[in-house]
Amino acid sequence: MIDVDRAKEIILNEISPLKKKERLNFFSCLNRISAQDVKAKENIPPFNNSAMDGFAVRANDLIGASRKSPKILEVIEDLPAGYVAKKSIKAGQAIRIMTGAPMPKGADAVVMVEETRSRNDTVEIYKEIKVGENVRYAGEDVKKGKVVIKKGSLLKSGHIGMLASLGASKVKVFKRPKVAILATGDELVNVDERLGPGKIRNSNAYSLYSQVVKTGAIPILLGIARDKKADLKTKIKKGLSADMLLISGGISVGKYDYVKDVLKGLGLEMKFWRVAMRPGKPLAFGIIKRTPVFGLPGNPVSSMVSFEVFVKPAIFKMLGRKTDGAKEVKAAIKEEIIKKKGLRYFLRAKTAWQNEAYVTKTTGPQGSGQLKSMAIANSLIILPEKEERMEKGRMVTVRFLD
Ligand code: AMP
Ligand code: MG
Repeated sequence: MIDVDRAKEIILNEISPLKKKERLNFFSCLNRISAQDVKAKENIPPFNNSAMDGFAVRANDLIGASRKSPKILEVIEDLPAGYVAKKSIKAGQAIRIMTGAPMPKGADAVVMVEETRSRNDTVEIYKEIKVGENVRYAGEDVKKGKVVIKKGSLLKSGHIGMLASLGASKVKVFKRPKVAILATGDELVNVDERLGPGKIRNSNAYSLYSQVVKTGAIPILLGIARDKKADLKTKIKKGLSADMLLISGGISVGKYDYVKDVLKGLGLEMKFWRVAMRPGKPLAFGIIKRTPVFGLPGNPVSSMVSFEVFVKPAIFKMLGRKTDGAKEVKAAIKEEIIKKKGLRYFLRAKTAWQNEAYVTKTTGPQGSGQLKSMAIANSLIILPEKEERMEKGRMVTVRFLD
C-alpha cells in the first residue's frame, strides 16, 4: 500500500500531454489549449478613434477654456461610429463624434459631451484638454505582428473575443483525450432496465462519464463487463484504443474480482495497487502498451473520490493544462471527527464562506457506498494520515468539487 502523494506522483510521471492537434473554428475553442502562437495580423484598434461621445477638437483651440469663459467652436459635421469624416478640422472648428468613430483629420483630442453645450451650429466648451485625451490609438491594445496568445495557453472567453477582433477564424488546439469507461459486475443492470433480485443499477459509469466531461476530455462508454475473464478481456481490449481507460469495480480482494488478473494477462505493467486512503483504497494503476489504465474501486463514492484525486490530475496533464484542477482552501470543521491513523480521509462536505472565513460540515453518513452524501456535497474535507481525532473548530484543507 502506498500513500496518496506517492500514488499521484507515480501516475503523473507516466502521463504526458497529448501531441495530436486539430484546427477548429475559433469560437469552438473555449477551454481548449492553444497548439500555436497566435500572432496579430492587424492592429487593435485598427485606426485612431474616439473613446467618448463628444467633440473632436484641436487641443490648442481650448487653451484657457473654463465654465466662466467657455470657448466656442463651429461644428462642421456629425460623425457616427462606422463612418469616416468627410471634412477635416481647422482652427476654431469641431466635429460631433460618437464613441468608436475614427478621429477626423486635424483633430487631436475629444471633449466629452458632458463638458459642452450645443447651440445651433456651434458648441460651447468649458474645459481645457490635452492632446490625445479621449483618443484610442491604432494598435494601443494589440500591435500588429505581436504574439497575442502563446502556445499552451488555456483559451478563455476573453481570448475568443480577441481572436474574433483579429479575424483569426481558425485556431490550432490540442486534441482532447478520449477516456474509455468500463463498468464491471454481475450485479449491474442498465439504467432503463428492471431491477431483478440481487441487482443494482450501474451508476458509476455515469458519474465517471460526467466527471470526465467536466475536465474537458471525451468520455466513451464501453458498457458493462460481467465478472467473467473472457468478457472482461474483450471489453478491456476495446478500451485500450482510447487515450486512457477507467475500469470500475472488480479490483478488490473478492473471489470474483478478476480485473487485475485480466489486465496482467493483457500485458499490464502494474505501477501500484491499493492506496492508504478512505474511501478509495482498492485503486490500481498501470500501463498497457502506452495506455494508462485505472482500476477504480466499485463503491460509488470511492469511484468518484478516486477520480477527483487521481484521474482528474492525469487528464489535466494530458490536456496540457498547467494546473491539476484542485481548488483548495482552509476551513474550520463544525464537528469533531474521529478517524483511523495512517489513512488520508476524504469526507464529503458542504463548505461555505461565513463571517470572513470558510467553515465546513460533513454531509451525513460517509459510507463509501452512500452516494447521497456526495450528491449534496460541494467539497471534500481532506484529513492527514497522522491524525486520529480532529476537534471541532480545527482548520482543515477542503477541496471544492465544482
Ligand atoms: P467491487 O469492487 O466490484 O467489489 O464493487 C464494490 C461495490 O460497488 C459493490 O457493492 C458493487 O455492487 C458496487 N458497484 C460496483 N460497480 C458499480 C457500478 N458500476 N455502479 C454502482 N455500484 C457499483
Ligand atoms: Mg464487482
